[in-house]
Amino acid sequence: MGKADLHIHTTYSMDGTASVREALESAVRAGLDVIAITDHDEVRGALEARAISNEYGIHVIPGAEVSTSEGHLIVLFIDRKIPAGMSLIDTLICVREMGGTAIVAHPDQPSPTSISMQSIRKALEHPQAREVLHGIEICNMNPTHSPFNGRSQKAADKLPLAHIASSDAHIASMIGAGVTGFEGSTSRELRQAIQRRSTQPQQINHEHPMRIFFRWLRLFIGRKMSEVFRRQATAQREPSRP
Ligand SMILES: [Zn+2]
Ligand SMILES: [Zn+2]
Repeated sequence: MGKADLHIHTTYSMDGTASVREALESAVRAGLDVIAITDHDEVRGALEARAISNEYGIHVIPGAEVSTSEGHLIVLFIDRKIPAGMSLIDTLICVREMGGTAIVAHPDQPSPTSISMQSIRKALEHPQAREVLHGIEICNMNPTHSPFNGRSQKAADKLPLAHIASSDAHIASMIGAGVTGFEGSTSRELRQAIQRRSTQPQQINHEHPMRIFFRWLRLFIGRKMSEVFRRQATAQREPSRP
C-alpha cells in the first residue's frame, strides 16, 4: 500500500518554515511515496519541488491550499495559481477547467478557514463543482485543527467523499504525521484511489498539539529574524543614493 501526505506547506507560505528541499528530505525520511506541496494560494513551491523530485525518488503533486470565501480547499494537479476569495462553487469550477481535483481541508470546524457542512452539501449538488470535489480531510495534524478532528470525521461520515489524513505540516519534522494509504505507489494511482473513495487515512503522530505549536513558533521566529538580518545586510551593501 502506497503512502501519501497531501497537505504540506513550505516557506512559500507566509507561515511555513521548511524550504522545498527540507520538505522533500523529510518526506523521504517518513517513507512517503507521494506528497503534495500545498502552499497558501501559491503554486511556486509545488512546481519547484516537482522539478527536483527525481533527485529524491518521490512523486510530487503540484497543488495549493486555496482560500475560498467559505474556507480552505486543497487543490491538487494544478500548475497555475487559483485566485483566492471566490466562492467554493466558483473555485471548484476553476479547478475543473484546470483539470485538477479538490479535497476539503479541516472541514466543519469552529474556524473561519473551515468550510461548513452546508457549503459542502451545496457544492455536491452543483453539477460541475461535484465533478472535481472528491476528498475530505478527516484527520489534520496541524495543532490548530487536530483538536477538532472528531467533528471533521463526523461530517465526512455523512458525505460521499474519499477520506484523507494529512499533516498540514508547517515544519519539516511534521511531514508524514497524517498519511493517506492507497493501492499503488504513484500519483496517478493515488488520484484513482481518491476518485474510487478507496483511500485509507491514518494518524501517525500522537504528540500533544501544544508541543507541535511551540516547535513551529521557535522555527517561525527564527525564519522571520533571519529575513530581517538579510534585509539589513543587503541595505548596508547597497547604501541609498542621494
Ligand atoms: Zn487550512
Ligand atoms: Zn494548510
